[in-house]
Amino acid sequence: MDTLGKNEANGDHIDYNLQTMAVKEIKAKTALHYHSKEFATNWDLNIYRGCGHRCIYCFAQYSHKYLDTEQFFDDIFVKINIPDALNADFTKRSWKNNLVNVCGVTDGYQPIEEQYALMPKIIEVFIKYKNPMIITTKSTLLLRDIDLLEKLNKIASVNVQVSASSIDESIGGKIEPFAPPTVDRLKMLGELGKRSISTGVLMMPIIPHLTDNIENLDAIFRLSKENGAKYIFPQVLHLRGNTKKVFLNYIHDLFPGLMEKIKSVYNGSYANKNYLAAFGEKIRLLRTKYNFYNEIRENKPRREDSQLKLL
Ligand code: SF4
Repeated sequence: MDTLGKNEANGDHIDYNLQTMAVKEIKAKTALHYHSKEFATNWDLNIYRGCGHRCIYCFAQYSHKYLDTEQFFDDIFVKINIPDALNADFTKRSWKNNLVNVCGVTDGYQPIEEQYALMPKIIEVFIKYKNPMIITTKSTLLLRDIDLLEKLNKIASVNVQVSASSIDESIGGKIEPFAPPTVDRLKMLGELGKRSISTGVLMMPIIPHLTDNIENLDAIFRLSKENGAKYIFPQVLHLRGNTKKVFLNYIHDLFPGLMEKIKSVYNGSYANKNYLAAFGEKIRLLRTKYNFYNEIRENKPRREDSQLKLL
């Protein structure tokens, strides 16, 4: 791997420096992947394996287990040929212009995308084939590509969703050290709305006893509403597989006073029923307060949806 980066603490945020990050360029056989669990769509496209946003709760770490490294945050694999691979996938006769979730596993607008600029090439291919997309990100780097997204939205459809966990940057800067502040992400939705691009908010993961206070949840609801989000999906942190160990190590270092309280909420991988019931009540009150109920998404594939796998 090439060595590119070093990360140094600087107040609430950590300066991003590419000097000690290991980056490996790889070639993908296909760009599109089918999965049986539908979350908006069954089709995924991920440009990167590994992610430099370094969220302490990252659920995607499992995706490194088949590689020759477990350093999910430090060893980043770049599918350098992915625009060509996508072009080939879209020309297959079995492809039916299904909605594609772009970067649903690892963030396509993570810091290294500034250097590789693969997302604009990906969007160009979507435009060429008039294929609808949904993008999930934590990064305002997406605004670099807003003209292309607007163009695609006029001929197919684009939905952008951001995740939001903490408005308070003294917390956000620690749990998502290389991602732009949550307030900036939510304001970005307002810019997309001005171009008629549909948006939503994944209010997740909410961390018990750290980001679940009503002031924080209220602020996320208010900013989401003010910036025109069509939906908001709240979810409490899951701690499956290796994520639990990594997350609790970070909590031990960053918020030692909360360690036992957070652990007490989890029997295994999920928050207990009493906690979830109390959280659900907070969300119910906020939906009522802001009259914020999810609207139906506007992603309309050009042709009928298909469950066919790409072969
Ligand atoms: S942005 Fe997503 S994939 Fe990247 S570190 Fe954070 S949770 Fe993991």
